[in-house]
Amino acid sequence: MRLTVLGSGTNVHPTRAAAGYLVETDQLLLFDFGPRTLMNLIKVGVDRHRLRHLFITHHHTDHFADFLPFFFDAVFHAKFVAPRPGLTIYGPRGTRRLFGTLVKVVPGFSTAPFPITITEPGDRTIRIGHTRVTAGTVVHRPRLHCQGYRVAHNGAVFTYSGDSEYCAGLVELCHGADVAVLDCSFPVQRPGAGHMHAGDCGRVAREAGVKRLVLSHFYPVAERYDVKAQAGRTFGGRITVARDRMRIEVTRPSLAVPRSR
Ligand SMILES: [Zn+2]
Ligand SMILES: [Zn+2]
Repeated sequence: MRLTVLGSGTNVHPTRAAAGYLVETDQLLLFDFGPRTLMNLIKVGVDRHRLRHLFITHHHTDHFADFLPFFFDAVFHAKFVAPRPGLTIYGPRGTRRLFGTLVKVVPGFSTAPFPITITEPGDRTIRIGHTRVTAGTVVHRPRLHCQGYRVAHNGAVFTYSGDSEYCAGLVELCHGADVAVLDCSFPVQRPGAGHMHAGDCGRVAREAGVKRLVLSHFYPVAERYDVKAQAGRTFGGRITVARDRMRIEVTRPSLAVPRSR
């Protein structure tokens, strides 16, 4: 399994795209589609017309805005260049209403010549080929349903918090993950509601027994502090500060093939 960070920032950030993570297993899976992540998808050389599965964590625009140019382009491409496979959008409560409305009312969208499925799986596990994706509700904002995701393939596990505070549901979702991408919006000195600071991320990683912690979803203020050191005060495992277009192999250390002599 391979993770590509398409965006490690937030809504408007001077140097980072907003939330977006590509996960490659036997499938091509996209988790969130925030502003500026579409260009990063293109820059890392992924054919966007192969994308069939889009998972949304919640409906703040820093997590889905690039769906609009992506879909407009997909319709045009499928009509005039080459057919494309269908697209399934998975998300929290309200996803059918929001994306159903976009597909219906944005000019050109409703004429898409490929099937579109919009589904709200709840906190369940979906099987796509040999990949299992489990959604888990986390705590972000009152009255806004946010789901993190857990991806399992070939014994390796990747998890992504979406936007979340420290909560038991997130620790459970991340249990034993080989790589966990967590919402590290803020440094310890400048916490904010609805998100974690670096210390919270370290706590989740430690309590969940995560192997490698990837800090991401940075607000500009986080750039002025050593968030890696802050998370390291509570978590003793490997910590990575995400960068846009960074690639990370998600493997279980115990399953690594020993090098032949
Ligand atoms: Zn949010
Ligand atoms: Zn966000």
